Amino acid sequence: MARIIRGIGVSPGIAFAPAMVVRWDFPEVPDRTVRAEQVEEEVSRLRAAVDHVVSQLHDLEQRVLRRAGPEEARIFDAQTLMAQDKEFLASVETLIRNNQLSAETAYEFKALEIRNLWSGQARLRERLADLHAIQLRMLNQLMGRSGPELWAMPADEQVVVIAHELSPGLTVQLDRDHVVGLVSEEGTRTAHAAILAHSLGIPAVMGAAGALAQIAGGTMVLIDGQAGTVVLNPTRGELEDAQTQVSRRHKLELQLEGIVEQPAVTPSGRPILLMGNVDLPEEIEAAVRNGAQGVGLLRTEFLLTGRATLPTEDEQAEYFRRVALSFPERTVVIRSYDLGGDKFPAAFKAPQEANPFLGWRSIRVCLDEPEVFRPQIRAVLRAAVGRDIQLMLPLVTRVEEVLEARAMVEEEAEALRRAGVRAAPSLLVGVMIETPAAVVMADRLAEVSAFFSVGTNDLTQYTMAVDRGNARLADRFTPHDPSIVRQLHRVAEVGREAGLPVSVCGEMASEPLSAVLLIGLGIDRLSVSPPALPLVKWVVRTVPEEAARRAADEALAAASADQVSRALRAVVGEYLDVRLLDPHSALPGRGRVASLPH
Ligand code: PEP
Ligand code: MG
Repeated sequence: MARIIRGIGVSPGIAFAPAMVVRWDFPEVPDRTVRAEQVEEEVSRLRAAVDHVVSQLHDLEQRVLRRAGPEEARIFDAQTLMAQDKEFLASVETLIRNNQLSAETAYEFKALEIRNLWSGQARLRERLADLHAIQLRMLNQLMGRSGPELWAMPADEQVVVIAHELSPGLTVQLDRDHVVGLVSEEGTRTAHAAILAHSLGIPAVMGAAGALAQIAGGTMVLIDGQAGTVVLNPTRGELEDAQTQVSRRHKLELQLEGIVEQPAVTPSGRPILLMGNVDLPEEIEAAVRNGAQGVGLLRTEFLLTGRATLPTEDEQAEYFRRVALSFPERTVVIRSYDLGGDKFPAAFKAPQEANPFLGWRSIRVCLDEPEVFRPQIRAVLRAAVGRDIQLMLPLVTRVEEVLEARAMVEEEAEALRRAGVRAAPSLLVGVMIETPAAVVMADRLAEVSAFFSVGTNDLTQYTMAVDRGNARLADRFTPHDPSIVRQLHRVAEVGREAGLPVSVCGEMASEPLSAVLLIGLGIDRLSVSPPALPLVKWVVRTVPEEAARRAADEALAAASADQVSRALRAVVGEYLDVRLLDPHSALPGRGRVASLPH
């Protein structure tokens, strides 16, 4: 049996604690029939179980509301709605009556029908996860089995949670005082649950194949959410190594404490704009604390996560204002809804498609659904009064898309003006460069855009034909591939010639080594995940531009991603200890390492 399980580090930090295996799996439901006179009793049992589950969800929602906030608590709205779905429950009752089945047998049968209908469709993943959660609660209730309520953990215990898959709903339930680490068999860095774990500061490893089979509850595990390793029953030596790493990172953390106050400039004094990526409202504070010079990517899809309805124009305007207020005198770039692919929340009715990532997503959805897009545009315009708020369009592949979106912005600005609503008279509209088509057409896109921001996550996915969420292909998913480096170079050149600001907001900008490469390629605006800001700034201030350019030249001439990575490490290694800059490194959240023995 393997003692070290390798996965993907999705949320940095080290944790050492006993494993708590969360079998988020269903109980065995026997095929049980009942006598005709018992049928109504089964229907009543079903209804009572629904009431119980709804009140459980309500209770959970209240706790999450107190502990995390309204956005996280909304996840339970969608589940409550699904648990009470009239059509579905009527079909279960009919089955109980017609076939004289027990409530749990009928419920499981009908839930299975829906799962079969939905499975295999990436965009329904979130709804499937909700269905899974409700089915489990219902079956547990009907069969008198207790479920994994992580809230119920003893107050003085710390655990590393091991699960097959972590849903956003399960992740927000986690109490940071008790859950010091997360391991799941499924998932990658871009999974919703990974993004949440990161923002909650819980070290996490995903894509850890075989974890459930190999880790028994209570086993001591050492996880490294940066390297993506899970060590079972670590040896004294392994613990000491981890301890050394932790002390090294602590030392670096102390060293970097003052850096927030210092300007983001290269050793020769060239300013680099270091902005923050904000996915969840809680990240605003971390971005400010870590010295973000504005927001280079405000993801708005998470306003919808777990909700049963779309956010209103007022709600959005309020949120956008709140973000802008946190960054006075700075730019805030709001990205229009990037729905589709794996991000179709319950509030939005998704079509069935064979290839959702090549389907109806992002700007395509927005342009086709004006009743979704226009309120968002109006909210941005209203929030932009007297503030530097800009709008960014994701997944652009054609010039017409930008023209159409800009026409909508102008129409809405005019409509608001006529209606006497306080709103900005216009907006700067920029384009995300995240498809090879956009790179090829960058010169013509530059004619209709106010700025470019490169989304290296999708650019890598579409260039390499590697699904960004597929754990099996994770080692092929790297923006160090020369095909990506060359595209970045072209975009930087086009931007320079057209006098257009070019930034990078994909995860690549949050990797300190890659940040050097980007600077060497001539990109001077980076939008970074908030926890990574101090380290990226340190690298910016330490590595001379001449060295960055040298690394970029080598990367442009390279034949493989490996060569690019090696060249970067060699050049940057002349100025600092590159072991501190491993991919996706960021400082561990304070206190996460407290569970290591001293
Ligand atoms: C990207 O694709 O690089 C990006 C920043 O957008 P997202 O990760 O939200 O798709
Ligand atoms: Mg993208």
